[in-house]
Amino acid sequence: MAFVILKPKREKSLLRRHPWVFSGALAKTRGTPEPGETVDVVSPRGGWLGRGAYSPRSQICVRIWTFDEREVVDAQFFRNRLERALHSRRELIDRLHLTGYRMVNAESDGLPGVIIDRYGDYLVCQFLTVGAEVWKDTIVEQLGALMPCEGVYERSDSPVRDKEGLTRRAGVAAGKEPPDVIAFQEGPHRFWVDVRNGHKTGFYLDQRENRMQMNGLAEGAEILNCFSYTGGFGVSALKAGARHVTNVDMSTAALDLSQRNMALNDLDQNRVEHVEADVFKKLRYYRDAARRFDLIVLDPPKFADSRAQVGRASRGYKDINLLAIKLLRAGGHLLTFSCSGLMEPELFQKIVADAALDAGRDAQIVRRLNQAADHPTALNFPEGHYLKGLLCRVW
Ligand code: SAH
Repeated sequence: MAFVILKPKREKSLLRRHPWVFSGALAKTRGTPEPGETVDVVSPRGGWLGRGAYSPRSQICVRIWTFDEREVVDAQFFRNRLERALHSRRELIDRLHLTGYRMVNAESDGLPGVIIDRYGDYLVCQFLTVGAEVWKDTIVEQLGALMPCEGVYERSDSPVRDKEGLTRRAGVAAGKEPPDVIAFQEGPHRFWVDVRNGHKTGFYLDQRENRMQMNGLAEGAEILNCFSYTGGFGVSALKAGARHVTNVDMSTAALDLSQRNMALNDLDQNRVEHVEADVFKKLRYYRDAARRFDLIVLDPPKFADSRAQVGRASRGYKDINLLAIKLLRAGGHLLTFSCSGLMEPELFQKIVADAALDAGRDAQIVRRLNQAADHPTALNFPEGHYLKGLLCRVW
């Protein structure tokens, strides 16, 4: 097996089982590994550190599959990882009656670059790194044996593939072509998902526990759901007894599916309004019109893709949070999120605090929110924690 040797003093993160080796830490490569090939990573003195996928095009030039020297990376290895991932979610799936959930969460499930979501009888996968790409057929085969399903659809069309020197791809990986929309169950809620054209694999499964916050908060409330996508928060709000929900998004396709999701849950269409607009503009319009709400959800897309963008992202978060706080009735609630991994929770909290200050309103954090339990974060991989939210009461 080919191997790579680290520069002196660069083994610390691997000793802490962090799965990424940056190209700047590499001293030498022995042998001529192909992109995606399995290599051993050794210290300058020859000590074995880990075994992973070689990715010469990426800044992250090795992603570790295993920290156990005896473990061979083969079909059985992937079978074991998939079984472990599924087993660890079994209780959650049964308890919450889920037919839509994340089955494999990449690095945090010991499978860098591999995302697998289930929606009803279909599995939707993303193979985001060259290592994941090389093992794709093996993973799909093992999946078929472990989880009988109608079909496996691939959504490897994320821009992160470009950094690995991979082209983007989407299509059937095994079994049947999925229908235009697939229905899945999340406890008392049902949702349609468009796995071909939706974001990521089609749905924001990571917000499941935060949608549940609507129980108890939404009853009798007038709600503004900003960046509503296919209406996840809107459905749970109406189910929880909201008086009225306004969903705002700039995507016509997302709003159409949101409307269908309302119907799928037998919700009264008179209690929901769909507004196609830019949230930044619509919030200003509501401010000028002196509109007021009891609960506002702010779940924007990722504002920062790189460290250089954190400043601009902060101004974006500040802007929408300030506007939203101004629109809340006294005692109202703000459910505000950031899904940018680079936005640290402390900084996000400070931005929301500054927004309340500028609005001249007292506000309390009632609850800190995170990504759902089927999106765990490996302790050795803090980068896996990306979604954070605050439930604030505003006076
Ligand atoms: N809250 C949703 C997920 C939001 S994803 C859920 O729980 O399912 C982000 C959404 O923001 C996308 O639907 C995208 O179309 C929308 N969006 C992005 N920028 C926007 C803008 N400036 N104004 C309105 N919608 C926007």
